Formats: sequence, C-alpha cells, structure tokens
Amino acid sequence: MLEFKILQENEKGRIGKLRARNIEIETPTFLPVATKACIKTITPDEAKKLGYNAIIVNALHIYRRAMDVVTKVGIHKFMKWHGIIFSDSGGFQSIKNFPAKINNEGIIFRMPDGKEEIFTPKKCMEVQDRMGSDFVFALDDCPSYPYSKKRVEKAVERTIKWAIDCQGKNRFAIIQGGIYEDLRKYCAKKLASLDFFGFAIGGLCIGEEKQEMIKMVEITAKNLPFNRPRHLMGVGSPDDIAKCVKYGIDIFDSAFPTRNARHGTIFTSRGKINLGKKKVKGDTIDDECSCYTCKNFSLDYLNYLFKEKEPLAMRLATIHNLHFMNKFMEKLREEIKNA
Ligand SMILES: [Zn+2]
Repeated sequence: MLEFKILQENEKGRIGKLRARNIEIETPTFLPVATKACIKTITPDEAKKLGYNAIIVNALHIYRRAMDVVTKVGIHKFMKWHGIIFSDSGGFQSIKNFPAKINNEGIIFRMPDGKEEIFTPKKCMEVQDRMGSDFVFALDDCPSYPYSKKRVEKAVERTIKWAIDCQGKNRFAIIQGGIYEDLRKYCAKKLASLDFFGFAIGGLCIGEEKQEMIKMVEITAKNLPFNRPRHLMGVGSPDDIAKCVKYGIDIFDSAFPTRNARHGTIFTSRGKINLGKKKVKGDTIDDECSCYTCKNFSLDYLNYLFKEKEPLAMRLATIHNLHFMNKFMEKLREEIKNA
C-alpha cells in the first residue's frame, strides 16, 4: 500500500512519512540516482548500509538496453534492490549520438540498433508499470536551457495534456514552467486538479540563475496540495537542498553527490574538498564523518588514489558523499522537529 502523511510543518520545512512495499521513509529525504539500474561504483547492500531505502532509476535507459529481462523478473530483482524504486522517463537528451525529438504525440528516440521509437504518455506509463517501479513519473516536456517563454508555454501545454494519460495511484505529475512565475502557477494548479499520488517540480537546475531556481520552487510549492508529496527533480547540492526544504519540498533526487564523488569532489563538515591535487594533505578526511571511508582511510591516501586514477578512489568517495547526504538530510529533519 502506498501512503503519505505530513506529521509536522513549520518555517523550517515539513516532516512526512512515505510508505511503499512495507517500507517507511521519513521525509524530507534524498534519493540516490541509479540511472541504468545501478548506483555507480557501489552495491545495493552498500547503499542500504548507508541508510538509503529508496532510489530513482531511468525508465528510458533501461527500456533501451534491458527491457526484455526487466519485464521478466521486475526491476527490483534485476538490480537486487529491495527498497523503494522511483522511475523517471526523462533524460532523453542524454542518449549518446541520438538526440531525441519531441512532438505533440510524445518523445521520439532511437533504440541501440537505430530503430526509431516513440514514448507516448500511455506507452511511457505502460513501460514503467512493466518494470515494476513503485513510483512512476509522468511523461513531460522539459525544454533545455536557454529557452524562450514561447517554448516553455508550449512545454507546459504538452505536459498538462500528457498528464491526463499518466494519472494513477502511484504516479507523480511533473510541473514545468521554466523561470516564469505565471506558467509555474498555471501548470501546478492544472496538474493538482488531476489524479496523482504526488507532484514533482521539473525543469530546474539546468542553467538558470540560482535565485530564480529557488524562487520557482517557492512559488510552485505554494500552489501544490498540502497532503501530497512534493519532489524536486535534479537539485542535489547540500546548500540548495537546505533552502528548498524550507519551502516544503519532501523528496530530492540528483546525481550531484555521486557524480562529484567520481570526479574527486567530496562534501565535508568543513566544506568541499577537491581531491587528486598536490596541495591536499592531511590525515583525517572529515573528523565529523563516521562513514567507512573516513573511519578507515586517510585524506593523503584518498588523494593519492585520485591522483593515480585508481577505481577504488571513486568507490570510497561515493560512499563518503552518500553517507554525508544521508546525515545531512537527518540534520535538516532534526531542525524541523526542533523548530
Ligand atoms: Zn566519510
């Protein structure tokens, strides 16, 4: 059974409980990204030990490469992740060599053999249901930045029209509207009148000014139903998350912490450290962190691994950053509870 409840709300944010597959998650929460049905460099067991019970995968990437077997066994068994799985259908821009096209019917992309296919809203929902995702994001039109207001207007109309075919008990609608207050409000209100489990804010953190991003989150959140989960897509820096939690965002997902880790940037209680550099020296990585990496290895060693481009460097940094994010969300929840 799927359930969501708000337990507390104040100027620091809101505390909620999200339930699926008999697993309960306290919100605000952060979902690690497992685009191609894996969190890059770590195992599902490791993610679970880091405190995570929910992740997000990408339906399009899995559809293009592994749909036969995923249909047979289901996404949970396929990737050996028995926690909650969200799936997003976006990421059409990220298919190498095949930029996707969009029209009023849906999104046109190519399969690895070159064959053209279309995700209509119905087809996209059917694919994610076949995968067995616990929560499914609607098909939306997310224009890349920079965009004209006219292009965003078109995207909003398409997203609303497509949402009608995406409704359902485990579905999240996605609010578009770029950096335009009127379009964000309009899109939020229209989608809020449809039958969705939750609402996601999409099309942000793609190049617009930070202040504009935060403002859009505030405006959109205000126009969403109180008792439904609010998911902010693609925002994953600790600073941004802290700001958006105040406006009542419940769920975040972003590749930011894991991608940064693989490129040698770790988040610590004293700020960011860029590894693989000559000037980085020291014994302790982060004296406030109790993750496997910080408990067992020195900053000198981790820095050396990055300089040598050893794959272990990416693993150790990913473990640390995901541990950091989980503790960071815990801290934000404590602040709300104590306000
Ligand atoms: Zn650590």
